[in-house]
Amino acid sequence: MSAVAIHPSVDDGVIKGKADFKGGTLRCRCNSEPVEVKVSSNVAHNHACGCTKCWKPEGAAFAVIGVVSCDNVEVTAHAKKLMVVDEKAAIQRHACKDCGTHLYGRIENKDHPFYGLDFIHVELSGEKGWEEPRFAAFVSSVIEGGGAKPDQMADVRGRLNELGLPPYDALNPPLMDAMATHIAKRNGVLK
Ligand SMILES: [Zn+2]
Ligand SMILES: [Zn+2]
Repeated sequence: MSAVAIHPSVDDGVIKGKADFKGGTLRCRCNSEPVEVKVSSNVAHNHACGCTKCWKPEGAAFAVIGVVSCDNVEVTAHAKKLMVVDEKAAIQRHACKDCGTHLYGRIENKDHPFYGLDFIHVELSGEKGWEEPRFAAFVSSVIEGGGAKPDQMADVRGRLNELGLPPYDALNPPLMDAMATHIAKRNGVLK
């Protein structure tokens, strides 16, 4: 029996990144005139995400997504093809109108705990060395996205653990704590 498919970039095993990696160029999937986005740093908090909003390649149950400072993200070709998928979403996902690929997700709300960070998919880059995914977020949501049936979830979580991607049904504890800390400071609970 073959293992449960998570995402093409991890299904054969997670490939470790390089500590001194300096970034690369993301390209959409258009055969001609692809949108290009230059990212001038490595990614952080890279992870598999089972939510229904993140862009996934055809057939994948999970997206793979990480964050970079928005100062390190620059659209360098065919910016005219970009559109925001949902203007009301906390993360404004900028996608190619022609092929549907999400190039980057930006948070415009200054009060958001992750303001200043852009969300990107490093699989859109040809360069090797990006920090590898290290956990899986919103795992139960793959049921909503149609990526797995409820009775397959034990296999999905088992496979994620085997790949070294501990599964969580929200974000991982460091990111959940960072969000709660931001809110506690804003509310004056935490000085
Ligand atoms: Zn495209
Ligand atoms: Zn997601």
